[in-house]
Amino acid sequence: MDEIIRLCEEIKDNKKCLGCGASKYDGCECIYCGSINDKLKVLADNLISVLNNTTDFDNKTLINLFSIKDLNIKEVNVILDRYNFDNVIDSRIDNLIQNRFSATITNDDAYLFSALIEGNTLNRQNIDFITMNLMRFMIMGKLDISNEKKKVVIKNFTEIFMRDKIKNPICIYSGKLDAQGDSFYNIIRFNEADIDKLLEEGDYIELLRLIFHECTHIHQHYCIDKGSLINYLLLLQTKEQIIRNNYPNYYRDNYKLYLEEVEARYNEYYSLLQIMQVFGLKMSDKSISVLNEEMINENKNMEDRRRVINGNQTTLDEVFDSIKLSANDLYKYPLLNLEYKIDNGNVVKKSVDELQRDYDAYLQNIKTPKEKEEIDYLYSRLIGEKVNKK
Ligand SMILES: [Zn+2]
Ligand SMILES: [Zn+2]
Repeated sequence: MDEIIRLCEEIKDNKKCLGCGASKYDGCECIYCGSINDKLKVLADNLISVLNNTTDFDNKTLINLFSIKDLNIKEVNVILDRYNFDNVIDSRIDNLIQNRFSATITNDDAYLFSALIEGNTLNRQNIDFITMNLMRFMIMGKLDISNEKKKVVIKNFTEIFMRDKIKNPICIYSGKLDAQGDSFYNIIRFNEADIDKLLEEGDYIELLRLIFHECTHIHQHYCIDKGSLINYLLLLQTKEQIIRNNYPNYYRDNYKLYLEEVEARYNEYYSLLQIMQVFGLKMSDKSISVLNEEMINENKNMEDRRRVINGNQTTLDEVFDSIKLSANDLYKYPLLNLEYKIDNGNVVKKSVDELQRDYDAYLQNIKTPKEKEEIDYLYSRLIGEKVNKK
């Protein structure tokens, strides 16, 4: 049995197609580019010969066979059919779904579910649901699986929250990072040693905070690049990115008030409170009051426009106004077009009348009360008292 499990594990580790990077096969032939994965073929042949010499299969072995079902190896499917294992899996998942976030996950379930989310066999919805449940159990300190498997749960959990904001999210572990994590485009990287340490210590609160922090950055960068979501904070964050590009020390010297970081720290606490509620888990009154304190603090930081440049006190607006913008900036940072326009090839601030006209036009297309609130706030800040609210 152990030999079968070992081969299944190794097959999963070698599933990536060397031709195109996908991992969907018919036998050992990639369904996308048609190339044969030789390593996979050797492993599959070994597996088949062990299977042919085995008559009875225990639960753990069947779980492992199920987790490589997507390779469409005939011998594997015959065995799974013989044990009606698709139905076994379905009923275990149904049971989990029916209990929502109150199911108890036995060690046997933990083994099954963590093997399932590693494979490609389940649909997205089920993988997400299982992941959330495993994460909940992990936070409770009751999930008895290896740290390697826990890292798969954490990766999936992070990608669920990324998918809220962007398409094709990728979360990876990296051996060489200066920070606990970082993010760019659709990728979050976690420093593997730091994650190992948090798992070792069982510090899941810190782990969740790290996840929510990086997910916030993913969303910020997406919004700043696309300019599709319009709000005042994003406009200011855009400006700080431009300042940062012009003053290399700006980010480091203003870390505490740098608005992308302020918002990311705020969301660590906010999202943590939310997820605990979703999971139906209680935090101590003391930790809740600490979190509330921190949120109040970050809210204050959010309004603080004082900045330091080369050791001198200044403000965010002052530094930004000193930077000469080019037409290319308005193209690269779409949100700047809220406040600026191109006039005779120069970038200039829009007049109050122009801003008022923009504001009126936005009001025509507003879809939600939240959107209206954002637009009202943005223009009250850009136009000041003079905004003519409808
Ligand atoms: Zn391929
Ligand atoms: Zn950050």
